[in-house]
Amino acid sequence: MKYTLAITQQCDLACDYCYVGKKNAVMPFSTAKKIVDFVLDYAPKNEKIDIGFFGGEPLLEFDLIKKITNLIQSHISFDLDRTTLSVATNGTIFSKEIADFLMKNNMVLCISCDGPPFIQDASRHFPDGRNSSGIVEKNIKEALRIFPLIPVNAVYSPENLQYLPDVVDYLSSLGVKNIYLNPNISAKWTKKEAGMLPRIYGSIGKKYMDFYRQGKPKFINLIDNKIVVILRGGYKPLERCRMGGGEFAFAPSGNIYPCERLIGQDDGKAHCIGNINDGFIPGKTCKTISAVNMECQTCGLREYCMNWCGCTNYFSTGKYDAVGPFICASENAAISAAFHVIQEMRENWQNFSDHIAGTPLMNAIGEGIEETRQDRILSERTQPIEMQNREHLL
Ligand code: SF4
Ligand code: SF4
Repeated sequence: MKYTLAITQQCDLACDYCYVGKKNAVMPFSTAKKIVDFVLDYAPKNEKIDIGFFGGEPLLEFDLIKKITNLIQSHISFDLDRTTLSVATNGTIFSKEIADFLMKNNMVLCISCDGPPFIQDASRHFPDGRNSSGIVEKNIKEALRIFPLIPVNAVYSPENLQYLPDVVDYLSSLGVKNIYLNPNISAKWTKKEAGMLPRIYGSIGKKYMDFYRQGKPKFINLIDNKIVVILRGGYKPLERCRMGGGEFAFAPSGNIYPCERLIGQDDGKAHCIGNINDGFIPGKTCKTISAVNMECQTCGLREYCMNWCGCTNYFSTGKYDAVGPFICASENAAISAAFHVIQEMRENWQNFSDHIAGTPLMNAIGEGIEETRQDRILSERTQPIEMQNREHLL
């Protein structure tokens, strides 16, 4: 179960692609209390609970984060073993006090940084135009000294897609070991960029292998997630989007949305599925997404493809269940790049599968990689994918 508390819609940055409807809204503590009661009482007892502090920039309201964390941990239904707390920050705010608090409460810090200064400053700047790269780089380095495995998320857009391998190099040079690369899903992607993807993702796959062979392995979501999914034979039900069923986002007003990316202006209309004070709007919850595109029905990659991501689909096509052409091309290229890595790593499979077993995805899902160590499964699962993939590309 994934719950996101957008505790404020204020932010100190003015990113070009921001999807947050910024305003001076901060979640009242009384609203947070009702949400915490709902989260801890409603979550099925056999499921893990992931509670994320989100914004705007949530660290602008650090005192509120402290109070809500205390509320969660002192709740009668709180279970440390099945609850993960995280904070997603734009990287402009960090201090020893924040680090100590996160450490003491075993919380995960996720930082956003789009890459080297010429990329970061072009899209992620302060409202008065000042660059953010200097402060964000400094904070990432400081955070890494305390939390060596913090994930850093880079968003790429059509203007800087060609530099994606450089983004990996840059984050790696800072010491980042968990690298997340995600497309700006609101951007106007064209066939030109879609055509560049196989080469660019292939180049990232090569870097991924180089890092591994040099004894400095990195987790790169684009590659690792697909490797795991290929080896498992597809996404499992709990990994797929469960927006409004297994995933809820709360705006400062208490309005409930199926995903934090859909809060927007928090108008309480388009994507809103209820309010913490009034309950859910009948018929609006439990949306399990199944892509309606005709080509997906017969595509050999459909089990390995994230065509089920409702908010990504919405921003691409205006519908939760219709995949856009760029996401299709991106999934295709990512699966191909991961498949290539699997083939190349056969020579050293035992050690490589140990590395995969330690990736965040495997840890998050809590499943072992034992079966993937077996060559039989490896060959049974990867050979057909190669053929299906080629068939699809043709
Ligand atoms: S850091 Fe996040 S909330 Fe702030 S402007 Fe950038 S995208 Fe929007
Ligand atoms: S790769 Fe494209 S066609 Fe195939 S399942 Fe994914 S979105 Fe659908």
